[in-house]
Amino acid sequence: MEKHGIDLTEKDFAVQNKWTCDMGTCFDKKTKKECNYKPKLSDVAEGKIKQDDCLYYLQKYQSLVSSHSIWNYASYFQMMKYQKEKYAEYLNKKVAIFDEAHRIEDQIIQFVGIDIFERNLNECKIDVENYDLQDIDDVMKLSDGLSESYARQISELEDSSAFAQNPDYEVVQTLENKYKKYAEARSEIYSNKENFILNKPYYDEGGKFRSLSVKPLDISKYVSTFFDHPIQIFMSATIDKESFCENTGFNPEMVEIVDTQVSPFPIENRKVEFTDVKRLSYNSTRDDEQLVIKKIDEIMTKYSDKKGLILTSSKSRCFEILENLSAENKKRIRICHSFNANGKTQDQVVQEHAESANGVLLSSSLWEGVDLKEDMSRFQIVAKAPYPMLSETRTKIKMQKYPLWYKAQAIMKLLQGFGRSIRDYGDWADTYVLDSAAHELLLMNRKMVPHAYHDIIFPSSFKEFLG
Ligand code: SF4
Repeated sequence: MEKHGIDLTEKDFAVQNKWTCDMGTCFDKKTKKECNYKPKLSDVAEGKIKQDDCLYYLQKYQSLVSSHSIWNYASYFQMMKYQKEKYAEYLNKKVAIFDEAHRIEDQIIQFVGIDIFERNLNECKIDVENYDLQDIDDVMKLSDGLSESYARQISELEDSSAFAQNPDYEVVQTLENKYKKYAEARSEIYSNKENFILNKPYYDEGGKFRSLSVKPLDISKYVSTFFDHPIQIFMSATIDKESFCENTGFNPEMVEIVDTQVSPFPIENRKVEFTDVKRLSYNSTRDDEQLVIKKIDEIMTKYSDKKGLILTSSKSRCFEILENLSAENKKRIRICHSFNANGKTQDQVVQEHAESANGVLLSSSLWEGVDLKEDMSRFQIVAKAPYPMLSETRTKIKMQKYPLWYKAQAIMKLLQGFGRSIRDYGDWADTYVLDSAAHELLLMNRKMVPHAYHDIIFPSSFKEFLG
């Protein structure tokens, strides 16, 4: 903001123009100077705080020097991967607690491997047609091409007279981040090449290349980078010890599971009915699919004055369901994903749903991360078991190599789905599971289902357990 000559109180104006600190030059490599507003870690540790200290670094340093602090996964992992030594004396806490532990794999793979997007190719004027995207060596050549191009762009920019007159460090910083990402990819991937899976490239409906990723199959090799405390507590309502240890590589003898025996929420508030209408799969007949949709219609009619949630396994199934509902129930539906056809965000759609009288959200992505408390949802329908999509190469290979992982992913998602509408002690919602494959998944893998769900999933044996 200072560089652009605007008052430091004009925050909205700065945000509109993208003059924000994610583009800031915290450290200028050329002049070797740090941003004037960046506080010193040693000063923050001594409690010397200035009024105009950069809020980002102030919070980061205050968190580091505090006895207890809360981090999001992205910033914590970033630090553990790249700045562990720099902040070693502050990171050596005895205890670390990791929430939403069932999502750890997704978090780790964001920090390992590479993603190549269409915009990177455009920025570097690289024609994807010149590479065999089924061949990892060729994809690595493509990645090298990207890093070389970004390096060239940085040096051309810095040597230009325009830059000398009016230096734009924001652009340099952005290019450097991209250069670093692709330059580091080669050594990371080649140091353990057999563990990296080249996913199928993603092309849009018009056949245009959109993205490509190379991701590790087994994340256990990276776990020690991110989890390095004497006592670590992983919290989740939906993990089981065996698959957790298999996936993370933690020695089962060093892991103790604290499996809450009985849910703290009353059983009558979280009833689940397995209607087992049909067993759905990729090859299901149209008749079977229609029977499931007919049941959805019946349940929606039963709860005609209530809001609810329908969960299924893909966007195409969402449209199939919508298409075949009765006219009355069709009007109640809002299809909701992170990106929606009408340009609305997930939050906007959920907000509209909250304001409706008897709306019903229909989604293949709201299995997790949405909070439909109280009247926002009084019934939930699981239309299809949420097995991971085998269209992704990594998922397919991982399923073949680690069948337990594949089942654990589906169970975790299903149980997360059960919890979307019952958010605290007094809250209630009725859940209906229509796909018998979902019921079967739980019955056949009882050991992988945390005890707190046994009363609603295996009611007869749970009574025996209670005596
Ligand atoms: S130190 Fe803070 S204020 Fe300065 S550029 Fe970096 S993020 Fe922005």
